[in-house]
Amino acid sequence: MTSSPSTHDGTPDRITRDEASAALLQRARDVTPGGVNSPVRAFRGVGGTPRFIASAKGPWLTDVDGNRYVDLICSWGPMILGHAHPDVLAAVQEAATRGFSFGTPSENEVALAEEIVSRVEPIEQVRLVNSGTEATMSALRLARGATGRSSVVKFAGCYHGHVDPLLASAGSGLATFALPDSAGVPASAAHETIVLPYNDIAAVEAAFAEHGDEIACVITEASPGNMGVVPPAPGFTAALRRITREHGALLISDEVMTGFRCSAAGWYGLEGEPEGGAPDLFTFGKVMGGGFPAAAFGGSAELMGNLAPDGPVYQAGTLSGNPVATAAGLATLRGCTPEVYDRIGTVAHAIADGASAALSQHGVPHTIQWAGSMFSVFFTGGAVRNYDDAKTQDTAAFGRFFHAMLDQGVHLPPSSFEAWFVSASHDDAAVEHVLQALPAAAAAAAAS
Ligand SMILES: *Cc1c(COP(=O)(O)O)cnc(C)c1O
Repeated sequence: MTSSPSTHDGTPDRITRDEASAALLQRARDVTPGGVNSPVRAFRGVGGTPRFIASAKGPWLTDVDGNRYVDLICSWGPMILGHAHPDVLAAVQEAATRGFSFGTPSENEVALAEEIVSRVEPIEQVRLVNSGTEATMSALRLARGATGRSSVVKFAGCYHGHVDPLLASAGSGLATFALPDSAGVPASAAHETIVLPYNDIAAVEAAFAEHGDEIACVITEASPGNMGVVPPAPGFTAALRRITREHGALLISDEVMTGFRCSAAGWYGLEGEPEGGAPDLFTFGKVMGGGFPAAAFGGSAELMGNLAPDGPVYQAGTLSGNPVATAAGLATLRGCTPEVYDRIGTVAHAIADGASAALSQHGVPHTIQWAGSMFSVFFTGGAVRNYDDAKTQDTAAFGRFFHAMLDQGVHLPPSSFEAWFVSASHDDAAVEHVLQALPAAAAAAAAS
């Protein structure tokens, strides 16, 4: 250990050592593009050396140099109960002793599907997959298969995983890296995607007026979190429902980030059923895997009946419904009690209030937006209604803020286009540690 962990009395020690992380990054770069297995981890948006984490417990991360951080990434959402939660750990250990993967059906798959179906009222059936990307990719195929149409509407700034036709104007990682589209996505794939500004009903109406009979579906983040948190304006979800119905297209609500986080029934549980009916398909991931690769898509039994082996739309997976991953997901969902959601709300508000007070004190323009207890801090003044608004952020100021927080033992998402994730394990000591770090970070943001 080369630096002492932060004390719990609320005075953060300055973190000065990153030699071990830097050495691992060097090694990683030789064998992995950019040294990382997912681009946003590379710190390109904020500069500096990403921290290699050795272990995590509750709200704390410990890196390979022995530094400790209060974690405000929480694996981008899944660790809603905190790291290595005892109940989830026990479930995983118990499942693992009975074997890792069978390639035949097993009970945990049924139990996890039942848990999801029981929480989100319009869903009658789900199919389990391994990642949010797989969930949206499969939902898209199902929508196209069920409607016999091929065009897809998505919104700028919404991210639905790295699915070819959805990698247009996709927010966060891509926003940070200023890659509006990915190389390697054929024009034919992008050609069938219509990208519209979020929260713009007139734009949706115009697109359907022109292409209505070619559009298989509208896919939207239930409440976007991948351009920062930009909730749907009142009536927007209902308008999507109405317009898709009028034109015989399906509505896919991507709840990979919001599902089981914004409420026990995700964003759907908070916003309620839009006038005109529920979305046709939902996608989930993140929380429902409890930190393991498990995701899902679901809808009515009739629509899901189009999938193989019952129907003509093919979809499959060697590790789908993996017994260890489903055990983790099940234990996590069962652990998401009303008290857990209360605690997350309390922690989120304490941190957001502290951040806003510190940034205001130092005159740093900012806007905090919410989707239930999910929030992000935009480094721009005024409401953020869409991706264009989000792009007015002072990303350099965020970079200084991020590093000042990191230096004081608080690990924020390394991009200003992300939600800050908290867990129910963020106790008063962890929250206090964050609050103590905020004033110096706000001062750093202000000092250009
Ligand atoms: C994270 C995310 C995805 C992609 O999930 P992966 O598991 O990273 O493939 C899709 N949609 C939304 C809304 C997400 O936040």
